[in-house]
Formats: sequence, C-alpha cells, structure tokens
Amino acid sequence: MQIQGRCHCGNIAFALDGFPTPGAIPARACDCTFCQKHGAVWTAHPTARLRVTLAEPLHVSRYRFGTGTAQFLVCSTCGVVPVVLSDVEGQRYAVVNVHTFENVDASMLRPQPVSFGEEDAATRLARRQHHWIAQVEVIEGTS
Ligand SMILES: [Zn+2]
Repeated sequence: MQIQGRCHCGNIAFALDGFPTPGAIPARACDCTFCQKHGAVWTAHPTARLRVTLAEPLHVSRYRFGTGTAQFLVCSTCGVVPVVLSDVEGQRYAVVNVHTFENVDASMLRPQPVSFGEEDAATRLARRQHHWIAQVEVIEGTS
C-alpha cells in the first residue's frame, strides 16, 4: 500500500511506498526534547521510497538543533512536523511522523520506545544510513 501523510493545512505532504510488512509499522516515540514537545512519533524503513511535496516552500521552516545534522520540516502555517531529513555522505535520508498519516489505521502501528540521547554524532549518522528511508525526493512548489 501507499501511505499518504500531510501536515494539518496540507502545505507539506508525502507519499510513502515500499513498506514490506503492512500491518506492522514500527512507531518510534523519540525522547529528545523537540519530539517530546511535539509528541512526534517516527517511522522509516530502508527499502521504502518517500516523495515529499512542499506546496509553498517559503512556509516551511527547516529547524535544526543539537548536532545540526537533521532538519525538521515544520509547516510554518499550521505548525505540524511531518518529515525529518538528514544528508549523510551525499545521500538524503528521511523519517516520517506517523501522526501525520492520512490513511493508516492506528492498529497498524507497533509502538517502539527509543532513546538516542547517548549516541555520538558518528553513531547517529550510521544509524540513519542503515534504518532511515534512503530513497527521498523533495518537490518544491505545486507547478
Ligand atoms: Zn501546514
């Protein structure tokens, strides 16, 4: 199935293909301070393909903190955070926020609490290369 998601106003939308086991989508509640404040819960799979559409790119805030290696795409119109991007060695990786899914029943999500606070930067980037979505396309503008 294709998973579709979007922020509240629709400025940031995405389509996710290639999850191997529909019915068991890992949902990882990151315990970093940013994700706690947003209640963000993330998922990814290394063989999935993600297409992100930014209808109005000027209304997308790209927030970075800590090591600065990830950019959180925050819709500056409605405040929702559907996607995180990270560029590692020339390759773009992503995770998506399961709370922004439009067509996924909550029973398909499998919660997995995680903590990344103890990781050093190199470990963090290596983990993204192995576990995050590795086929990422970001389309800016609707035309
Ligand atoms: Zn929005």
